[in-house]
Amino acid sequence: MLVVLKPQTPEATVADVGARLRMAGLAVHRTEHDGRVRFAAVGDLGAIDPKQVESWSGVESVAKLSKPFKLASRAFHPHDTVISVGRIAIGGPQIAVMAGPCSVEGEEQMFTIAKAVAEAGATVLRGGAFKPRTSPYAFQGLGEEGLKLMRRAADAYGLAVVSEVMEPDMVPLLARYSDILQIGARNMQNYALLRVVGHTEKPILLKRGLSSTIEEWLLSAEHIMARGNRQVMLCERGIRTFETYTRNTLDLNAVPVVKELSHLPVIVDPSHGVGIRNKVAPMARASIAAGADGVIVEVHHDPDRVLSDGAQSLYPEQFAEMVKQIRTIAEVVGRTV
Ligand code: PEP
Ligand code: MN
Repeated sequence: MLVVLKPQTPEATVADVGARLRMAGLAVHRTEHDGRVRFAAVGDLGAIDPKQVESWSGVESVAKLSKPFKLASRAFHPHDTVISVGRIAIGGPQIAVMAGPCSVEGEEQMFTIAKAVAEAGATVLRGGAFKPRTSPYAFQGLGEEGLKLMRRAADAYGLAVVSEVMEPDMVPLLARYSDILQIGARNMQNYALLRVVGHTEKPILLKRGLSSTIEEWLLSAEHIMARGNRQVMLCERGIRTFETYTRNTLDLNAVPVVKELSHLPVIVDPSHGVGIRNKVAPMARASIAAGADGVIVEVHHDPDRVLSDGAQSLYPEQFAEMVKQIRTIAEVVGRTV
């Protein structure tokens, strides 16, 4: 249920409305829009009559939150969420450019790539230290050593860090080194993990599951938000379809659809979306044209010898060219890079 209060309602009255909703057994989440406090009251609504709530002091209107996701919905939070990460704001007019290797492999690799992507215009360095590999025999990541390396390389070039966390127990470790916690596609419905990151204050990059609908994806965001962490970015990274020429099918439909349904920033990962190096830049351009708030791209200076995802990694020069192109497209859609 969405409860909108009248403008300039005294704080004591606002608190009273919140308390009465809680007394009815509901979880209450607060936001503000157009000078009005808004409460999303979620849970079993059976014990409460909306007509009665409407008559409470300070209440302007009561409406049903009809979508299964509540806190992630535009109905609750009409304006775009903007997430601050260091000196950048994600979800505002500026497009976020995140780039780096699939996996952290070593010091020289991280510093070389961090320098290249920073010079080309990236503001966030990506890299996995704990890798969700389909095969148990493939490279699984450098662990904490990798996180330390990535942090140093990012700091040297003024970049923020995004890195994947795979297990609830590892969240504190990742949070120590990383500015954004990535939830990988394979873990989108790992509710134990979503619960733990929901209790942190770190921005979350929530990748769409390999075979997940948009509604399932938004409900996973809701799992995080219901625990208190509202700083969620949604990352479209391609879904499984019958098509086999590309690694996945990048669902760019999802960009305008999610932007309408939700106030959360949408980031597109064209690297995993297509899986083929020379198709990454075209899909990055298309992502920005479709209204994405940012892109996350795999970049490597020696992609023939990488330990994961070499075939989809851009050379630094290709990445620099891609950033120039998306800068032009950003201007057309009223954004900047
Ligand atoms: C990655 O970012 O390298 C990764 C494993 O992504 P995804 O979870 O989208 O497959
Ligand atoms: Mn990868």
